Amino acid sequence: MNRMLLPVLAVVSLIGTDAAFAADTPHNVILFVPDGLRALSVTPETAPTMAAIRDQGVNFKNSHSIFPTFTMTNASALATGHSPGDTGVFSNKIYTGYKVAPAADSMAPDLENDAVLGDIDAHMGGNLLDETAVVEAARQAGLSTALVGKLGPTLVFDHMDRSGNGTIVIDDATGTAKGIPLSAEITTAMTAAQLPLTAPSRGVNSDLGDMKTPGTQFANVIQQNYFADVASKVVLPLLKSRNKPFVMVFWSRDPDGTQHNQGDSLGKLEPGINGPTSKLAIKNADDDLARLRATLDQLGLAATTDIVVAADHGFSTVSKQSKTSPAARGHYADTPQGLLPPGFLALDLASALGLPLYDVNDKYARVLAEHHPIAGSALIGDDVANPDLVVATNGNSDLIYLPRHDKQIAARAVAALLKQDYVSGIFVDGRLGKIPGTLPLSAIGLDGKAVTPMPAIVVNFASISTGCAEPVMCSASIADAPQQQGQGYHGGLNRAETMNFIAAIGPDFKAGFVDPAPVSNADVGRTLAQLLGLSITPKGNLIGRVMTEALPGGAVPPSTSGTLVSAPAANGLATTLAFQRVGATRYLDAAGFPGRTVGLPAARVTASR
Ligand SMILES: [Zn+2]
Repeated sequence: MNRMLLPVLAVVSLIGTDAAFAADTPHNVILFVPDGLRALSVTPETAPTMAAIRDQGVNFKNSHSIFPTFTMTNASALATGHSPGDTGVFSNKIYTGYKVAPAADSMAPDLENDAVLGDIDAHMGGNLLDETAVVEAARQAGLSTALVGKLGPTLVFDHMDRSGNGTIVIDDATGTAKGIPLSAEITTAMTAAQLPLTAPSRGVNSDLGDMKTPGTQFANVIQQNYFADVASKVVLPLLKSRNKPFVMVFWSRDPDGTQHNQGDSLGKLEPGINGPTSKLAIKNADDDLARLRATLDQLGLAATTDIVVAADHGFSTVSKQSKTSPAARGHYADTPQGLLPPGFLALDLASALGLPLYDVNDKYARVLAEHHPIAGSALIGDDVANPDLVVATNGNSDLIYLPRHDKQIAARAVAALLKQDYVSGIFVDGRLGKIPGTLPLSAIGLDGKAVTPMPAIVVNFASISTGCAEPVMCSASIADAPQQQGQGYHGGLNRAETMNFIAAIGPDFKAGFVDPAPVSNADVGRTLAQLLGLSITPKGNLIGRVMTEALPGGAVPPSTSGTLVSAPAANGLATTLAFQRVGATRYLDAAGFPGRTVGLPAARVTASR
């Protein structure tokens, strides 16, 4: 009996220590996501609140977005700590393998939609991520939880409880039939604060313009003021009144939404996303964060609340120039003559393979001459019910699926891609065999245990620096998107788009610390779970690390850098990947064909280790 009691006594003696106490009662955590904010956009002039957090707290200067550098992929990484090979969120638009009713039966739906997320969850066994999200785990552990901001990524942090009675969810869809309902408690509090129960639209900020008309010159102020009002006047006071630890995510659509749509640079690569409208958007996001910090001060919560600021991805100005693309020589009603139309990748593949294409966003109608798929995505093949390829069009990288896993089609598609000047880097499912010129998807964290269909080929588009002191601040990238040349996009594996803003401040972080180690949004996700004292059992292995060096007493881990180079294709092109590594965790800096990607050394370098 005594032998059985001993271990129990040992455990009891530990409970009285500070370590056990800290683990039992975590500090509050706010994750603030300034969507699409490039790390070097932040200065004391452009974004004083974020600059102060970075300079007084922890500056993660070697930051990394997860590739593909899109919002939903990175929301999933922030929420679970996993790469897309595990979460299955391979981009903003993924091939689902079935017709998604809330997306007008598209098989390549936009995931930035609460109803679409719910539909795919239901079709994928209940949880499309197949991992536990951090806010979901916090709610289950008894913490108070709230999600406020941009439609889609906000909900990802606790997407399976759609009742509105657990986590507070306020996004673009709030107050509509497609949104998550408001609980009686939050409805009463919002009514008392005289705030509408329906979120405002983006209004003039959503104006994309067209080939003759510049897009918006307004930041997303009206909509985000509403979210900041709800967070500061209702949500934070309510969380305080519950008198237990909380986690709140605030996802600021700016600067992303405005950088996409800005009308500062129609048809021109400069100033592109460095014009006055994009600067208004950065300030708008910063103003929202300033309001949250002021509210924490007023409520007496500042000393007990950690603030982590992590942008999902960086950004580039849109280029639509190609000397090789057959699609760029066509005539389209919405595209200036000689430039790439939206959907050029699907058009060029269909042309190279001699196959018809069908629009997944137009009831699978055949795409006729002088037309492009409405949003770019298409099925390619003679039989629309059994296509050879599916292109999920996204932006500065696209996904190609081969529903029949046909190796010959894969080799022919890669051969066609290698002829195009807009391609810089091709990654292929290893099960399709080694194709010269390409690296396997496993090299970039896309080959895991995902429950959604895995892409067969990921195409990274070319980027250039238009000439400035920091090349990542004046990148122009080919974008397969409705945007005009001179507007903004992201999604590529170049340093302008992988170098997102990350900083943190609060009782659990070092002060005035510059972290030289590589970190990623998957690391941020794992660190959030650690801060909240949550023990989440991972299913997949493509997982980030806790950024212990940023926490008191933590040491900077050793890191290495290197390059991975594919076998050359017949025309000499070789996909090259520049990466860093901490232990088994790989950080993707840039990839492509040397000379065609910002941040990739122009000459080939051998791996340092
Ligand atoms: Zn975006």
